[in-house]
Amino acid sequence: MQFIDLGAQQRRIRQKIEKNILAVLDHGRYIMGPEIGELEQRLADYAGVRHVLGCSSGTDALLMALMAHDVGPGDAVFTTPFTFIATAEVIRLLGATPVFAEIDPATFNLDPASLEKTIVALKTNAPETSPLPGGVRVSDLTPRGIIAVDLFGLPADYSAIGEIARKHGLFVIEDAAQSFGAESGGRRAGAMADIACTSFFPAKPLGCYGDGGALFTDNDALVEKMASIRVHGKGIHKYDNARIGINGRLDAIQAAILLAKLDIFPDEIERRQGIARRYSERLSAIAGLTPPSVPDGYTSAWAQYSVLAADEEHRAALQARLKSADVPTAIYYPKPLHMQTAFADLGYRAGDFPVSEDFARRIFSLPMHPYLEEADQIRITDILAGA
Ligand SMILES: *Cc1c(COP(=O)(O)O)cnc(C)c1O
Repeated sequence: MQFIDLGAQQRRIRQKIEKNILAVLDHGRYIMGPEIGELEQRLADYAGVRHVLGCSSGTDALLMALMAHDVGPGDAVFTTPFTFIATAEVIRLLGATPVFAEIDPATFNLDPASLEKTIVALKTNAPETSPLPGGVRVSDLTPRGIIAVDLFGLPADYSAIGEIARKHGLFVIEDAAQSFGAESGGRRAGAMADIACTSFFPAKPLGCYGDGGALFTDNDALVEKMASIRVHGKGIHKYDNARIGINGRLDAIQAAILLAKLDIFPDEIERRQGIARRYSERLSAIAGLTPPSVPDGYTSAWAQYSVLAADEEHRAALQARLKSADVPTAIYYPKPLHMQTAFADLGYRAGDFPVSEDFARRIFSLPMHPYLEEADQIRITDILAGA
C-alpha cells in the first residue's frame, strides 16, 4: 500500500499529460510559455480571486509574498510553530523574526486567542503573558504581519485572524500549501487573506511533477510587485531592475501537467471528502484515538488525514502494527518549529507551546489520496481497532 498513490491518478489522465507536455516540446517556450497564463487564469477562476502568479515553489511563494510587504530585519511576523519549516524559514531568510503563537487543539491551526495575546505581549513587552523570542524588548521588533497555515488542508480561522490583523495594522498571508481545494465561509483556499501561497509539490492536493507553486491576491499593487519580484525585480523591461527579486518562475512543462490535473481536481476533492468521512466513522469508536475534526462551515482538502494517539508509546505501537501489515504512516510534525536547532537563536524553550509539543508526540497520518480503496481503508481501521 502507498501513503499517497500518484500512479493511480496518472493512469487516469496519462494521455492528456503526455499531450500537454508534447505541446510544450513543440512550441519550445519553456520559460513563461502560454501554459503559464492559461493556468493562472484557471486557478484564479477556481479560487475566486482576481490575480494568480505561478511560481517556482510554495516556499518561494511565501518568500515573494513577504518581499512584496517589504519585510526585513527588525520586523516580527506571527505564525504557528506546528507547521512545515518553510513557513517560518522565509521570515528568517529575510532577516525578520518569526514570533510563534499556540495552536487550537481542535483544528491544529493557529489559535486566534493565543495570536492576539502574543501580539499584545510583543507590543507591551510583557513576555510573561505569552512566550516571545527570548530576551526580546519592545523596541527591538515591529509587528508587521501574520502567516496563518491551513494545516493538513483545513483552512485557519480567517474571520477571527483578519479581525485581529485589522485591529493591530498587520498583513495576513495564507499558507495554503496543503489546502488548495478547501473552503470556509463561502470562500475557497487562496482567497482568504491579502495574499495566499500554495505549493504544487507532487504530494500536495494539486501537485505537479517537480517543484511549483502559486500566489493569489485581489490586490492590483501587490500582484504587480510580486510579478516584478518573480523575475529579478524587473522594471519596465527585462534589463531594467526596479528592486531586488528572485528567479521565481514556474516552468511551462509543470504548468502543462497542472492543466491536465486541474480537469479532474474538483472530482478528486470530492473523493477525498468521502474517504475522510469513511475513516472518521470507523475511527471514532476506537478508544484512545482522536480523529481530526472539521468545524461547521469548513471543508478540508485533506492533504493529510492525521489522528492523535493517547501518548507517544501508543502512537509507536499503532504505527508498528500498521507497518507490519505493510501500511505506511508518517508523522507531521515530530518537532515544533520553536524547538528546531535552526531557530535556536530565537531563544524559545521546551514548554513554551505545550499543545504543539504534546501533539508532536502523539500525532500521525494515515494513507490519504483520492484513489484509496474502501477495502484498504477497512483493513487500516481494523488494524487500528486491534482486530
Ligand atoms: C509544502 C509546504 C510548503 C512549501 O512548499 P514547497 O513547494 O515544498 O516549497 C510551505 N508550507 C507548508 C505548510 C507546506 O506544507
